[in-house]
Amino acid sequence: MSYFLTKGMPLTNIMVNNTNKSVVESRNSAIRDMLGRAASGKYDWFVFMDRDHWPTKDTDEFLNEIEGYDVIGAAYDVGSKRTWANPDAIHMGTVRVRAEVLTTIQPPWFAFRCSDDGTDITMCECDYFKRKCQDAGYKVTRRGWTEHDSKHTWKTHH
Ligand SMILES: [Zn+2]
Repeated sequence: MSYFLTKGMPLTNIMVNNTNKSVVESRNSAIRDMLGRAASGKYDWFVFMDRDHWPTKDTDEFLNEIEGYDVIGAAYDVGSKRTWANPDAIHMGTVRVRAEVLTTIQPPWFAFRCSDDGTDITMCECDYFKRKCQDAGYKVTRRGWTEHDSKHTWKTHH
């Protein structure tokens, strides 16, 4: 993963979150921990990649220069094609975000939304983030693919 992120981009910094909290807590912590860097003006983009994701040649499209967008997701196998039916559907397994978005959007950046009785999650944390970005006027799209260990065998392979 480090090679992919630093290839042709020598100024890349990598931060690893080794604490396995829930997705909502971990994703919010990741952004909180990067806020200082996002505000420093030294970085244009922040890439978020879950540990059970890895790049392939299909990931280049995700990293290419893409005009006019502030939040760009990569598609990956989640076991349901419907997940990607909407061309601006993104999920946080692999996403890159313009620095300005991170300092503009107020916390929580990620949250679940539930049905009235709390028995169903009606909006995942990624969709919550996407809507906050769009409400603030940022443009969201999706490009390319990453590989995703959707069967959760990564702990034994990596
Ligand atoms: Zn999601």
